[in-house]
Amino acid sequence: MVAKVRPLIAGNWKMNGLKSAALREVKKLATRMSKEKKPGCDVLICPPAPLLAPLRAAVKGSRVAIGGQDCHAAASGAHTGNISAEMLKDAGCGYVIVGHSERRADHGESSKEVRAKAEAVHRAGLRAIICIGETGAERNKGQTLAVIGKQLTDSLPKGCTAKNTVVAYEPVWAIGTGLTPTAGDVAAVHASIRGRLKRRFKDEGVKMRLLYGGSVKGSNADELMAVENVNGALVGGASLTAADFWPIVKACL
Ligand code: PEP
Repeated sequence: MVAKVRPLIAGNWKMNGLKSAALREVKKLATRMSKEKKPGCDVLICPPAPLLAPLRAAVKGSRVAIGGQDCHAAASGAHTGNISAEMLKDAGCGYVIVGHSERRADHGESSKEVRAKAEAVHRAGLRAIICIGETGAERNKGQTLAVIGKQLTDSLPKGCTAKNTVVAYEPVWAIGTGLTPTAGDVAAVHASIRGRLKRRFKDEGVKMRLLYGGSVKGSNADELMAVENVNGALVGGASLTAADFWPIVKACL
């Protein structure tokens, strides 16, 4: 049986956005959400760190949540340039993305480090969005399910619940390329992830949100969001403006 899970549409702005335009976009989004009588999904924007406080102030009391893009595993200390989960909570974040493929590739983050970061997010009382996904080369070798299975085992800490954890399946070859897996491919990977979550976390694994990410846009959102075990999306490029993001949100409203 497939559980009814409330979808999450999350925008990852990466290293994009300056204050005045960012505020305009997020306010447009909050206004559109406020016009929905009973929205069928949650909406999140993860801006770069300097925009967290102003964006949070702009959307406070609205249906748009704010989240971080990464955190350090420690609560505080001599870690120049890093931000702790506790600091993100203090800035008004509800979620933190950990293990994005750009962090894994550009900063050499291992699944063990991702797991420690996810533990930090839980320690701070926030929700971790834990990213996993295979590269194009791994996919071509038929290793997708094995790779994501191992990342899942190694990146998710003990104590994950449907409340404190979201899993995002993001095939690396689909991020920012305009390429997407077929709906059938997404269904097969998500079914495999769901099976693993169920075996490890029992009922919590049945209810845990499982996002698809990688070149989601208005034109493919309806099809991708209708796939079984897809409970929302993690969106990069198409989350930067309300005009591009809204059709994706609408696919889950
Ligand atoms: C991402 O980076 O998480 C992402 C999904 O990017 P895009 O939507 O631009 O492919």
